Amino acid sequence: MSRRGEMLREMGLMPIWRLRGSADAATAAVPEPANMASESAAPGSTKRVHAAVSPGIKVPLQPIGMDDRRAAIMRMDWPEIKARVASCVDCALHAKRNKTVFGVGDENADWLFVGEGPGADEDAQGEPFVGQAGKLLDNMLAAIKLKRGDNVYIANVVKCRPPGNRNPEPAEALACEPYLHRQIELIKPRLIIALGKVAAVNLLAREASIASLRGRLHQYRGIPLVVTYHPAYLLRSLGDKAKAWADLCFAVDTMKDLQAGVSAPTMDENV
Ligand code: URA
Ligand code: SF4
Repeated sequence: MSRRGEMLREMGLMPIWRLRGSADAATAAVPEPANMASESAAPGSTKRVHAAVSPGIKVPLQPIGMDDRRAAIMRMDWPEIKARVASCVDCALHAKRNKTVFGVGDENADWLFVGEGPGADEDAQGEPFVGQAGKLLDNMLAAIKLKRGDNVYIANVVKCRPPGNRNPEPAEALACEPYLHRQIELIKPRLIIALGKVAAVNLLAREASIASLRGRLHQYRGIPLVVTYHPAYLLRSLGDKAKAWADLCFAVDTMKDLQAGVSAPTMDENV
């Protein structure tokens, strides 16, 4: 079998090519989180500080001292930030978590994959993407000759499990955002892959559908960013695996350009 054929098989894509056009390949809509209003999806922007509850009245969503907290986190080194997250009680998600899920991998990785938040398996083990979706992510990595921990770092938007695997609330994502921001500063990845809508809208700080974000190079604070489907979504919507494969090919091509020092044009976001 050709190398490409092997990659497709490794990703579980081979049957999908044959199923194209059949009912199995029909796409399901990506669930749209009801609470992801564009205003609330802007980490660090002043827009998020206030929510109008009735005309003319603004209520602070960020506790007083939030700026100090962010500034302190932004000065932390790896041991400090790991310890800080392990004992964090800064949003409601701390109450029901078992283990915090900080992130895992090569702390100098070129590749950073960002998911949404821990599920049950991750909450039990303290490591991201170790359940079914994680197995698919590992296969996706293998398909492009990557391996967890080897020039790859894996993190999530929130470090504690949202109960029942619901999407994180904007306030929870906001509270947890400085940790991811600092992780990204320390890792200095060449390319970020946002896995799914929650990761994409939080990193890009704007509401948009996955369909509209795929296939283009975005950026998170100057770092090129590619959007693809979340592996858990792909497990339910096999027809979109082929699109995820196209996204990974786009990411590989982009990485080659970046490693060769070719600067690809990016969308002007969250700079
Ligand atoms: N889904 C995610 O988004 N992250 C994980 O770590 C596991 C499942
Ligand atoms: Fe802290 Fe993030 Fe966990 Fe909330 S989700 S308690 S901010 S580590």
